[in-house]
Amino acid sequence: MKLVFATNNKNKIIEVKKLLPKHLTILSLKDIGCFEDIPETKNTIEGNAKQKASYIKNKYGYNCFADDTGLEVNALNGEPGVFSARYAGLQKNADDNMNKLLTNLSKNKNRNAQFKTVIALAVDDSIFTFEGICKGIITHSKAGDNGFGYDPIFKPENFDETFAQMDLKLKNEIGHRGKATKKLITYLNKKLLASNK
Ligand code: IMP
Repeated sequence: MKLVFATNNKNKIIEVKKLLPKHLTILSLKDIGCFEDIPETKNTIEGNAKQKASYIKNKYGYNCFADDTGLEVNALNGEPGVFSARYAGLQKNADDNMNKLLTNLSKNKNRNAQFKTVIALAVDDSIFTFEGICKGIITHSKAGDNGFGYDPIFKPENFDETFAQMDLKLKNEIGHRGKATKKLITYLNKKLLASNK
């Protein structure tokens, strides 16, 4: 089965490819000749994931999945949430975003937060969603060089290191995107079994 993964984020591609079974051929946006910015204008994580997957399916005709992720911080009423990428501005810079979050939380004892990923799968004429959540805390300073985005300031529950200090295998096992991807794989395997009957 061929599926487009509608992202230009190399780190997301690496994470997801590590989990997907070999019988799935993943095409990149470049592979299908898509070089434009895909619209992401909805006000929920789920809405954006669906919008990105449907855009590719409708315009290019390929079955496709897309992920959208947000960091939801309890003391900030769920912010930055759907605005995580452009929290500190349209330059979408990870350091600026982390600095703004650390400043906004500086006087707060409640550091609880969660990453939420929604993967939307646009296949045939239907769209399905798969959610993955990882709870944790926002640290007081950055630590680690692995990963991307907010990884250096997010310590998952029951672990004493940030995502950026972990190896990818562990992040994938316990992380939001890994959880959502495993649900997607379960669905695709069932679908494949049913179509082989
Ligand atoms: P998007 O899903 O690409 O729109 O990501 C929204 C924002 O969350 C961006 O700033 C990403 O860098 C960040 N982000 C997405 N996934 C992760 C992750 O697994 N760890 C840390 N930051 C992430």
